[in-house]
Amino acid sequence: MTERASQSSGDYLARYERSLIGVFGMPQLVLTHGDGCYVWDADGRQYLDLLGGIAVNALGHNHPSLVTAISKQASEMVHVSNFFTSPAQIALAERLLALSGAPEGSGVFFCNSGTEAIEGAIKISRRTGRTHLVAAAGSFHGRTTGALALTSKAIYREPFDPLIPDVSFVPYDDVDALRAAVTEDTAAIFLEPIQGEGGVVPASEAYLRAARQVADETGALLVLDEIQTGVGRTGDWFAFQHYGVQPDVMTLAKGLGGGVPVGAIVAFGERVRAMLTAGQHGTTFGGNPLAAASGLAVLDEIESADLLSHARVTGDHFADAVAALGDDRIVEVRGRGLLRAVVLRDEVAPALTAAAREAGFIVNPVAPTALRIAPPLIVTGEQLDTFVTALPALLDTASTATQGA
Ligand SMILES: *Cc1c(COP(=O)(O)O)cnc(C)c1O
Repeated sequence: MTERASQSSGDYLARYERSLIGVFGMPQLVLTHGDGCYVWDADGRQYLDLLGGIAVNALGHNHPSLVTAISKQASEMVHVSNFFTSPAQIALAERLLALSGAPEGSGVFFCNSGTEAIEGAIKISRRTGRTHLVAAAGSFHGRTTGALALTSKAIYREPFDPLIPDVSFVPYDDVDALRAAVTEDTAAIFLEPIQGEGGVVPASEAYLRAARQVADETGALLVLDEIQTGVGRTGDWFAFQHYGVQPDVMTLAKGLGGGVPVGAIVAFGERVRAMLTAGQHGTTFGGNPLAAASGLAVLDEIESADLLSHARVTGDHFADAVAALGDDRIVEVRGRGLLRAVVLRDEVAPALTAAAREAGFIVNPVAPTALRIAPPLIVTGEQLDTFVTALPALLDTASTATQGA
C-alpha cells in the first residue's frame, strides 16, 4: 500500500464490484498516481504505462505543462455554459483549424468525448437530406446509440437494436466494395485512417484517396474519425495529413485534452460548417474553459517539445527493435508513430497482457493476435526498449499460460 491508498487493491476491487455497473468487467488494477510514463497501484507497484489511458495521456501523467494550465484555469474559471464563450475556447478552435490546414470558413464544435463527436457528425450528415451511412467492418466509433450503429462489432450493437437505420458496413481498405456501397443516397462515409479498436489496422493511401473521390462523385460527406489517431499520435498532427486526403468532417477526442474530457468536430469549409445552424446542436459542458485550457496546453507542449517527430522516431524505433528480436512468434509491428500493434502468430495477446502486467508493463490485447501500445507521446526509446527486451520471456509465459488454460 502507498500513502495514497488506505486499502489493498483487493479490498478496493471488492468495493468496486459491489458499487459499479459491471460493463468493464473487473478492472485489472487500482491505480493511485502517476508520473511521466509510470503509474502506481494501491499496493505500491510501479508500471510502465504503454497504453496511456488508451491514447489519451498524450503528455503522460502529471506533466508540469498540463498541471499548470489546469491549475491556473481552475483558479480563474472552470465552466460558463455555451451561452457564453471564453478566450481559451476561441483560441483552441483557432489552433485546431490552423493545425488541420482547414480552409477559410471552416469551423469547430466542442464536446466531451469521442462518441459525442461522432453523434455531431451524424447530425451534420443528416443535413445533406440523406440518411444512408457507410462504415467499415472492424470500425469502432463509440457507444452512444448513433455512434454504435456505425460500430461494426455485432455483440456491441445487437443488444440495443433497433439503432438508427440505413447503415452499410463494407470491408475495410477495399476500394471496390466502397465504390459499390456509396451512392447518391449516401449521406456520409465514416472511416478511421487507422482502425484503432479494430486492431491498429492502417488504411492504404489508395483507399483514403478513393474514399475522397467517391464522396466527391456522389455528394456524400467524408467523415474521418481521428479520435484515436489525431493530436500527434501517428507522428502528424492528424493522420489524414500523412495520407494527403482532406475530410469534410474530422472527429477528435482521446488525446486532445491529455486526460481531461475534450472532444471536437472540425467541419472543413463553409458549406459543411453551415450544415449546423443556431439551435440545431448543443452541449452544456462542451468546450468549457477548463477543457479548452487543457487542449491548448497539450497542443502547445506537442509543438514546443516537437513531439510529432519524437512520435515518428520512437515509434519506428519500437518497430525496428521488435523486428530485431527475430522472434518467429511475432509476425510484424503494424501502425504509425506511437499507435502500434505487435502482431502475434498465436492467439496469446490476452495472456501476454497479463504476463506483461505482472512484469510491470501496461499494454492492451486489442485482438487475440494483436498487442496494442499507445504510450504517452513523451515515452523514450529506452523505456520502449525495456519492454522489447522483456518480450521473448513474456511470450514464453503467455504461451505456457494459454496452453494451460
Ligand atoms: C475511442 C474511440 C471512439 C469513442 O470515444 P469515447 O470518448 O470513448 O466515446 C470513437 N472512435 C474511435 C476511433 C475511438 O478510438
